[in-house]
Amino acid sequence: MSGFDEHDAPPQEQMNGCIRCGMCLPTCPTYVLTGKERSSPRGRISLIRAVSEGDMAIDSPVFQEEMSDCLGCLGCVTACPAGVQYGELLEAARDQLWRRWPWWKRAVGTLVLSVFDRPRLLQLGTRALFLYQKSGLSALVGRVLPGKLREFHRMLPLASWNGSRQVIPARTPGGRGRVGVLLGCVMDVAFVKENVATVKVLRRQGFQVEAPPEQPCCGALHAHSGRLDWARVQAKRMIATFEKHPVDWIVVNSAGCGSLMKHYDHLLKDEPAWADRAAAFSSRVRDVQEFLAEIELKPALPQVVQPLTYHDACHLAHGQAIRQAPRQLLRQLAGSGYRELAEADLCCGSAGTYNIAHFDTASQLLDRKLDAIEASGALRVGVANPGCLLQIRYGLARRGSQIVAEHPVVLLDEAWEKAEG
Ligand code: SF4
Ligand code: SF4
Repeated sequence: MSGFDEHDAPPQEQMNGCIRCGMCLPTCPTYVLTGKERSSPRGRISLIRAVSEGDMAIDSPVFQEEMSDCLGCLGCVTACPAGVQYGELLEAARDQLWRRWPWWKRAVGTLVLSVFDRPRLLQLGTRALFLYQKSGLSALVGRVLPGKLREFHRMLPLASWNGSRQVIPARTPGGRGRVGVLLGCVMDVAFVKENVATVKVLRRQGFQVEAPPEQPCCGALHAHSGRLDWARVQAKRMIATFEKHPVDWIVVNSAGCGSLMKHYDHLLKDEPAWADRAAAFSSRVRDVQEFLAEIELKPALPQVVQPLTYHDACHLAHGQAIRQAPRQLLRQLAGSGYRELAEADLCCGSAGTYNIAHFDTASQLLDRKLDAIEASGALRVGVANPGCLLQIRYGLARRGSQIVAEHPVVLLDEAWEKAEG
């Protein structure tokens, strides 16, 4: 008898699609670091199949460990010649595990996730962090915290008093077409500069920008941690919001969020009242770099020759197959200064909260990423995802490096601003 219940069971067709060829193994960070078959995509699919066929208990430690140790980076999906959608298997397996957690563990998980859909609470927390950092207390505490606590403390983003909702107008006029932007949950309060740059770049290109302040968290954090029903609720709220603010495209500057929003159609495919609405929504979602690379840039992008490189965020390169668009823009920007990064699409170890829950593994991946960035000779690195930005900025600061990590849209906005004088 299957160890999974029928609601959101890992899809059989994906399990059966694995031909055990092993092509995904060299691209899997946890396999590369451990060399263990069970920590590879093929090994994890075998474990999911074993639970599905009743040969392994769902609460067996090896199954629980491997579902937790996987970064969800989707490097295996890009490598798979059989087209196995490993992400669907992982999210469904995590959903099944979550439902079997003890009540207190589920309560804690629910409490943490619910914060992301409370913009006012996030804003309050960010303002408290801003005061803590401004007062100098943060620097003092950082010196006395022991071991890993000190490292987690160093990972905190540099907070600002106002969030995106305070500084970005709900509508900015323009005649070239209507573009909606995702403000996000963490992006809203901790990546204001990146959100402002996104709106400025779109406005400069002549678009009407809609940034409805009532938009919810997209549900990516929920889906990736295996809360599929909750992710569906968030998806429906997001779709309904943009139905009230009709736009031609919905532009996203966070790779993880964009990846899920492009898959709302899959997430809601079994709900007749929502399937078509979700498909219409997903078809209009574009990563900001994908969008800018698709249109004719008017004004054109100025060139500021500079040593610049680019890190592929997993949910952009593997989750959305977007690799060329950011390179095209950054090559245009940096000219002969652009340098390709070694192992550019290897995960940096961020993966949501993976860098906290699996600090040692994440640190090994981060060190590998930082070595490659330093070896490239670049002074700036383009990083198009909030989790990767936090992780790489933390790593560069830990090394005392002069290299700066920025979202590509910030680099583009700066270049245009400089050209305009
Ligand atoms: S998602 Fe990443 S870490 Fe997980 S099995 Fe695939 S390649 Fe390995
Ligand atoms: S590459 Fe695809 S088919 Fe081959 S072992 Fe990995 S998941 Fe299975």
